[in-house]
Amino acid sequence: MQDARCKIKNKTYNLQLATCIFKGRILFDVPMKDYTSFKIGGNADVMVFPQDEHDLIDVIGFASNKGFPVLVIGRGTNLLVRDNGIRGVVINLSNSFKEITWVGDDEAIVGGGVGVIELINLCKERGLSGLEFAVGIPGTIGGAVFMNAGAYGGEMKDAVKTVEAVDLNGKRHSFDKSALKFSYRKCDLPENMIISKVRLKLRKDSAEEIKKRIKEFKERRKAAQAIVLPNAGSIFKNPEGLYAGRLIEESGLKGSRVGDAQISEMHGNYIVNLGNATAMDVLTLIAMARDKVFKAKGILLETEIKVVGED
Ligand SMILES: Cc1cc2nc3c(=O)[nH]c(=O)nc-3n(C[C@H](O)[C@H](O)[C@H](O)COP(=O)(O)OP(=O)(O)OC[C@H]3O[C@@H](n4cnc5c(N)ncnc54)[C@H](O)[C@@H]3O)c2cc1C
Repeated sequence: MQDARCKIKNKTYNLQLATCIFKGRILFDVPMKDYTSFKIGGNADVMVFPQDEHDLIDVIGFASNKGFPVLVIGRGTNLLVRDNGIRGVVINLSNSFKEITWVGDDEAIVGGGVGVIELINLCKERGLSGLEFAVGIPGTIGGAVFMNAGAYGGEMKDAVKTVEAVDLNGKRHSFDKSALKFSYRKCDLPENMIISKVRLKLRKDSAEEIKKRIKEFKERRKAAQAIVLPNAGSIFKNPEGLYAGRLIEESGLKGSRVGDAQISEMHGNYIVNLGNATAMDVLTLIAMARDKVFKAKGILLETEIKVVGED
């Protein structure tokens, strides 16, 4: 039986999940910097790693019963966690929900925890095309669909057919692509839904052609974004017809630094962690960039990264 003392909202609870068969791991007081690509963030009260949908429903039921907030994460590659961490339960799907079922010639039902890059490699082996644009996107399928991640003219929505999700009452839902109203880095999934599976419609193509496209996309990314320091991808959405990175560069902010956070010298839309950056350092740089671009160009930049947790 999973049974442990757990401090949430400064109260100590006896954490006993609804059934005795929770198979995943449960961690307490977890440094979020270990679970985000930015390597930044205070501690989360609890992090759970459900192994399957039963576990997921179990833990959601427990959290809902107790009134604990819930946050689902994948690989934390689009997240900035504030310095005082996260109250409640973080559900981490990056180590599970890895099942892939190939359907017919050109469809796949993919678990929300499957890595985008792993999936692209498996598709290549099967001669299935449609996701090559995403070859440098380091997140999970759940995170990528939630964000409608995209690059080089492609977006996750191009391949999504349906999305399976679980709500905070543990109820399963299925959404057609049209119901999700995908738009730039956004999908209209109702609040507090956890994507467990995604059905993708791909295209048959020769492995050679797919390999060629993957190579091209990798090279383009390497030329523009060969950033080795911890980061969370693009900080801002591109305003229509413009590039946020270019606007920031033209405002003279490339290389600007607050504490250990720096606007990348390579790409104006990336902030890198030079070692011990805090979320406050990053948020201060974000505010500086928005302010300067607004004053210089009259354009208000909108963040693409998700900022979560407490100051
Ligand atoms: C080096 C680098 C390059 C990148 N390049 C790109 C790029 O070219 N294009 C692009 O669009 N993005 C890019 N990103 C951002 C990021 O990789 C994508 O947004 C990615 O798809 C997020 O997936 P994740 O699993 O890391 O999600 P997380 O960062 O863990 O979560 C992101 C959001 O999705 C939600 N979420 C995660 N999983 C689920 C789920 N199963 N159900 C419901 N909600 C969920 C979270 O609550 C959060 O709001 C890049 C990031 C890095 C670090």
